[in-house]
Amino acid sequence: MSEPHQSPISPGRSWYEDTCGERPRYPALDGSTRADVLIVGGGFTGLSAALHLARAGVDVVLCEAAWLGDGASGRNGGQFGTGQRLWPEEMEDRYGLDRARRLFAMAEDAKAGLRETMLREGIEADFRPGQISLAHKPRYVDEFRRHADAMAERFGYLNLRFMDRAETAERLGSPVYHAGLRDAGTGHLHPMKLVIGLGRAARRAGARLFEDTPIEALTRGPGGLWQARTARGTVSAARVLLATNAHGGRLEPASAAHVMPIRSFIAATEPLAEPARVLPGEEAADDSRFVVRYFRKSADGRLLFGGREAYTSASGDVAGQIGRQVASIWPHLADVRFTHAWGGSVAVTMPRMPYVAQPEPGLDVIAGFSGHGVMMTHWTGRLYAEGVTGSGETLDDLRGLEVPAFPGGTWLRAPLLFLAMTWYALRDRL
Ligand SMILES: Cc1cc2nc3c(=O)[nH]c(=O)nc-3n(C[C@H](O)[C@H](O)[C@H](O)COP(=O)(O)OP(=O)(O)OC[C@H]3O[C@@H](n4cnc5c(N)ncnc54)[C@H](O)[C@@H]3O)c2cc1C
Repeated sequence: MSEPHQSPISPGRSWYEDTCGERPRYPALDGSTRADVLIVGGGFTGLSAALHLARAGVDVVLCEAAWLGDGASGRNGGQFGTGQRLWPEEMEDRYGLDRARRLFAMAEDAKAGLRETMLREGIEADFRPGQISLAHKPRYVDEFRRHADAMAERFGYLNLRFMDRAETAERLGSPVYHAGLRDAGTGHLHPMKLVIGLGRAARRAGARLFEDTPIEALTRGPGGLWQARTARGTVSAARVLLATNAHGGRLEPASAAHVMPIRSFIAATEPLAEPARVLPGEEAADDSRFVVRYFRKSADGRLLFGGREAYTSASGDVAGQIGRQVASIWPHLADVRFTHAWGGSVAVTMPRMPYVAQPEPGLDVIAGFSGHGVMMTHWTGRLYAEGVTGSGETLDDLRGLEVPAFPGGTWLRAPLLFLAMTWYALRDRL
């Protein structure tokens, strides 16, 4: 039997890898080829763009440096969420009501679009409905109540309901949070199964997929074609999509300065002895901390708990730290055993909205969905494809968002972000 695969770009072996079924392999690119569009990066963004381009008859090549899903896409919390990363009221303050409504509607389309793709392509990824958000301090209670009202009254979203402390405790199986919101219009899934399904669907549609194929350099060649160099060949294409998210940097450093990688970690317990005592309604959950805790149960009754963000490369004792967070919510799980602990890189931007840009003609960048990329990456990849074929909506609403570069240049931006995040993490605790 072959050795289990370990992502070379993300730490730890994930529970998803052990439960995703057969993970198909795609060859490394050997030699030179030409395509209409080259996609760099085989996560949700790249796979969605490849699938939708290939379905429209475009000749598309996707090159992934590692295996499909080895970045954030195969290893995340699996929560769809609702809306963009910013709450609609925050978007309204920043962009005005009309634009905020368009961005919210886009995210609703994203949710429906991903479900539609899964149905159409026969992708079975353990989807389960329901999500709750939890107020970890009393001062968030009124904010939550106002948020539910604003979602209904200003954005027409009727699936969100405020929960008082007693109902929150019942739905969580713990009294530690002060209030909650229950969103019946969203859900969660097994992300690696989604990656695999999207890869198969893109391949079936005619996309050429390559793994173990890092793009090493990107230049403009004769006739304005983009030339991408790999270890054993080249790809030339009229258009290139950089879907490298938190793992970009070298290929197009100017854009990469707008996106910062932050490590986030998840640990999986053994199947719980009494699963009905934790999230009995099977919702996914997140809380109001800046260093957010996010968790849900797996289909086989484990607790998958994400809670520790690190802003440096050191991953430390993930299960130990997460174990303490779990016990602080459910004391009866103080001795629960963890079978897996893993991490991945989330790509954040200054305004916490995605970075969608065209730094040069024919070269597009889509990145920076923070912890909100499961459905939005899929939709953005689809909108990119529709923009290429001229067949539908475009990415203009996202391209027009102001997403400044992180201050401090290549050397200083990571330490500056570390300081800022440490400050916010401290505020969570005070
Ligand atoms: C631990 C964790 C938990 C999360 N939880 C949630 C959640 O619950 N809900 C949610 O909505 N979002 C969540 N997210 C965020 C979500 O996973 C991401 O927004 C989304 O997966 C990004 O997809 P992507 O395709 O843009 O990037 P990625 O999946 O990171 O893919 C980028 C790919 O580009 C490849 N690449 C980089 N450079 C090159 C190169 N030069 N040549 C070829 N390939 C290259 C990388 O190998 C990588 O596979 C989480 C993220 C993490 C890490």
